[in-house]
Amino acid sequence: MAPKLPAYLYPTESSPGLRVRGGTQYTSSQGDYVCGGCGAEDHANGDNAVKALVDDYTDNHGPAHRNGGNR
Ligand SMILES: [Zn+2]
Repeated sequence: MAPKLPAYLYPTESSPGLRVRGGTQYTSSQGDYVCGGCGAEDHANGDNAVKALVDDYTDNHGPAHRNGGNR
């Protein structure tokens, strides 16, 4: 029986950021982000999709917005 995750683990417009939960033998990995720079959000399930989501966030959102638009 999977424990219910507390709400603060999920990014929202008022609390932007990247959240990743590793999978277990019963569940796949999950990732979510809400970008504080442009308001974009995305969600992914599964190791490969979560990796792509993290790369997208890292390259195009979040910290990337603070790098002088170098993206
Ligand atoms: Zn963004």
